[in-house]
Amino acid sequence: MMMLPSIVLNKRNPEDMIVNEGGNARSLYSEKVNADLVITGGGVSGVCCAITAAREGLKVVLIQDRPVLGGNASSEVRLWILGATSHMGNNNRWSREGGLIDELLVENMYRNPEGNPVIFDTIMLEKVVKEDNVRLFLNTAVYEVSKKDDDTISTITGFCSQNQTEYVFEAPLFCDASGDGVVAFLAGAAFRMGAESREEFGEKFAPSKEYGELLGHSIYFYSKDTGKPVRFVPPSYALDDIRKVPRYKTFNLKDQGCKLWWIEYGGRLDTIKETEQIKWELWKVVYGVWNYIKNSGNFPEADTYTLEWVGTIPGKRESRRFEGDYMLKQQDIVEQVHHDDAVSFGGWSIDLHPADGVFSELPGCNQWHSKGVYHIPYRSLYSRNISNLFLAGRTISATHVAYGSTRVMGTAANSAQAVAMAAVIAHEKKTVPAKVLDHIQELQQRLLKSGQFIPGITNSDEADLARHGKATATSEFSLLSFPESGKTYPLETGVAQLLPSAAGQLPGINFHLQAEEATTVTVHLALSSRRSSFTPDLLIEEKKIKLEKGRNCVELHFKAEIPERQYAFIVFRKNPAAAVHLSDARLTGILSLFQAENKAVSNTGVQTPPEDIGIDAFEFWTPKRRPEGLNLAMSFSRPLHVYAASNVNRGYARPLLSPNAWAGSLADPQPSLTLRWEKAITIQTIQLSFDTDFDHPMESVLMHHPESVMPFCVRNYYIYDGQGNLVESVQGNYQSRNMITLQKPLVTDTLLIRCEHPAENIPAAIFEVRCY
Ligand SMILES: Cc1cc2nc3c(=O)[nH]c(=O)nc-3n(C[C@H](O)[C@H](O)[C@H](O)COP(=O)(O)OP(=O)(O)OC[C@H]3O[C@@H](n4cnc5c(N)ncnc54)[C@H](O)[C@@H]3O)c2cc1C
Repeated sequence: MMMLPSIVLNKRNPEDMIVNEGGNARSLYSEKVNADLVITGGGVSGVCCAITAAREGLKVVLIQDRPVLGGNASSEVRLWILGATSHMGNNNRWSREGGLIDELLVENMYRNPEGNPVIFDTIMLEKVVKEDNVRLFLNTAVYEVSKKDDDTISTITGFCSQNQTEYVFEAPLFCDASGDGVVAFLAGAAFRMGAESREEFGEKFAPSKEYGELLGHSIYFYSKDTGKPVRFVPPSYALDDIRKVPRYKTFNLKDQGCKLWWIEYGGRLDTIKETEQIKWELWKVVYGVWNYIKNSGNFPEADTYTLEWVGTIPGKRESRRFEGDYMLKQQDIVEQVHHDDAVSFGGWSIDLHPADGVFSELPGCNQWHSKGVYHIPYRSLYSRNISNLFLAGRTISATHVAYGSTRVMGTAANSAQAVAMAAVIAHEKKTVPAKVLDHIQELQQRLLKSGQFIPGITNSDEADLARHGKATATSEFSLLSFPESGKTYPLETGVAQLLPSAAGQLPGINFHLQAEEATTVTVHLALSSRRSSFTPDLLIEEKKIKLEKGRNCVELHFKAEIPERQYAFIVFRKNPAAAVHLSDARLTGILSLFQAENKAVSNTGVQTPPEDIGIDAFEFWTPKRRPEGLNLAMSFSRPLHVYAASNVNRGYARPLLSPNAWAGSLADPQPSLTLRWEKAITIQTIQLSFDTDFDHPMESVLMHHPESVMPFCVRNYYIYDGQGNLVESVQGNYQSRNMITLQKPLVTDTLLIRCEHPAENIPAAIFEVRCY
C-alpha cells in the first residue's frame, strides 16, 4: 500500500506550509488568550453577561462548548425563555426582565414572532459578534483550571474540537455560566447537589427523598403535517411498552417542543456523570411516544405526520448549585424578602418535579407561586470561597427549593447581567467580587442605567442630567373614559380593571352591564397588601349591584379611601348571567385582569396549597393576551391624571404603583415632551425608555405571537435642541431602550422630544428620559 505523507497546514500562516513526513512527536495547536473577564458557558446567562460587560468596556472572552449560543434556549434544545411574567399566568404585572435579555427578546419578537428557534440562534450570535470587546470561542469545552493560590483562579483551559486547538484563558475575573459549573467545580468552589432538608433552612416545601431531590433532563421533538401519509418504523431502541409512561392516556398529537417538558428523566441519577445514560433513556421514550402516536391506531389524525426534529442534547434542569455568601431560600421568595444588595429579581413559581419524571404516577411538576416578584441578592452571585469567581445561570447560590424558581432563563439572564456589571466595578476598582458589596449602590445604579429592573430601586444617578431638568409637555393624557367598543365579556370568570389611583377616594365610576335575567353582581374595590405587588388580597369595599334584564346603567361611588398612591382593582365577581362592556382603548400601564385558569403554569384561578408547606393561598388575576384582554368600558366622574410629563425623570422606567410614564393626549397631533434646565448643559448621550409591554412574556420559541412590535411602543420621534434644531430623528423604533450618542456634544438648556402616537387608540408614551 502506498503511504501518503502526512501534511499539516498551519491555519494562521497558510503560506508557510509545513510538510511533515511523520515520526516526530507532535502536539496540537495551543494559544494563550488574555481578557478582563472570562465567561464559561454560552447559554442565555453567559450571552447576557458577556454583552453587558463588553458594552461597559471590559475585554471579555465567552467560551461555549457547542456550535451555537443559547444553551437550553438554542435550536439544539429549544426551550422558551421565561421569567417573572410566567406566561402571564401569575400576579406579577409588568415584570419581564429588563436590560440585555429584554433587548434580545424584543429583537426576537420583531424578527421572529413565529418563534423559529433557528432565527433566535442568529439573533444571539449576531448580538455577540457585534461586540468588538467580546472574543467568542464556539465548540470549545473548558476542562481544566489552574490556580494562583487556594482561592484564586489564574487560568482555565479549553479545547476546540473543530480546529484542534487548546486555549489557555487568563484573566483576573472568571464567571461560571456553564450550567454544571465546570470551572467552579474544578476550582474547588463549595457546592451542593440534591435537596436540603426542611430543617437546614426552615423550608417547609423541601422535598422528601421519595418525591425526589434533583430535577431531571428532558428531550423534545417537533412533528409536522406533511399532507400525505407517512410511515414510521421505530428504531430498535424505542420504548416498546408505552404503559411505562403513565401520561400515555392523555398524549396530544399537537404537543411538541416546550409542551413536552414532562418527558423528563434522571432525577435519581447523577445528572452530570450519568448524563449520557439519561439522554439514551430519553431518546427511548421520545421514539416510544412517537411510535405509539403513529402506530397504535389511537391517533388516526397522525397518519400524515412525520417527526421533523428530535433533540440530540438533553435540556439539563439541575446539577450542582454553588454556595455564595448568601443562599436564597423558599422564604425569600414567598415572603418577598427585601435585600439591601438586591441586583436582580425573580417571579417564576417554585417549580419542583418528581425525580421519576416521565415514569412517575405523580403530576409532572409541583408549582407554587408567590404573591409578587422577589429580590435576588448580589451575595448569591459569587463563590464564597473562590475569590475571583462569579456565578451565573444555574450555578447561583440558592437552595434546591429556591432554585426551583431562579432557574428559568429570564431570571438567570437577569442575574447574569448583574454579574457583568459587578465584574466591571471589580475591574475598575481592582477588587474581587465579594468586595463589590462595598459599592452596592453604584452597582444598582449602573444596572438601572443599563435597563435592569430591580424592584424598589429607583434612579438616583447624579450623572443623569435629566433628573435636574423640568419636564413639561404640549399635552398630558387624562383618563376620563374607556369608550365602549360594542364587545362584551360575560362574567363567566371574575374580571377586574386595574386603575392607578392617588391617595384618597376614587372618582365615581359609570359603566353598563348586560344581564340575561334579573341578577345581582358583586363588585369589590381591592388593593394589594404589598403596595408594589399585584395580588388583590385586601378587600376594602364591597358593593352589590342589582341588575334588571337587559342593559343596566351603573354608577359606583366607593367610599373607602386609598391610603397611598397605588393600583386599585375594580373587581367584578363571577356571574355568568351578566356581562361587562369592553373598550378598544389601550393605555400604557393600565390593564384588565381575569380570574381565569392558565394551565401552562398551574393556575386554576386560586392557589390553595396544603397547609404545612409554607406557601400562600391567594387568587390569581391575570391579563389575557392580545387581541383579547381589552379594558372594561367605563367613565369617571373626574379624570385620572396619571400621565404627567414629570414622570419621565422621577426614577422609574416601567409601571409600578402607577404607569410611571408621560403620555400625550390623543387629540394632540404632535405630542411633545420638553426638558428644560436653568442654564445650558452639555449632553453627549440621550437615553429614552419606551413601552414594549413588560407584561408580555415574549416566549422565544414555538409560540406564535400576534404582533412583531408592541402596540404601545413609540415608533417615530424627533429630538430638537433649545434653538429648534433637529438633533435626531428615529423612524420605526421597536426597542424598549434607545441610546442616542450624539456625534458632537450638544450644549443647550432645552430638549424637546416630539412623538407620533403609535396608533389612533394608543397615546404616545415615554417612561424615562436620561441625559449624560
Ligand atoms: C426540560 C426543561 C424545561 C425547562 N423549561 C424552561 C422554560 O420553559 N423556560 C425557561 O426559561 N427555563 C426553563 N428551564 C430552565 C432553564 O432552561 C435552565 O435553568 C437554564 O438554561 C439555565 O441557564 P444557563 O445559562 O445557566 O444554562 P444553559 O442554558 O444550560 O447554558 C449553559 C451553557 O454552557 C455550556 N457549557 C457547559 N459546559 C461547558 C464547558 N465545559 N465549556 C464550555 N461551555 C460549556 C453549555 O453548552 C450551555 O450552552 C427548563 C429546563 C429544562 C431542562
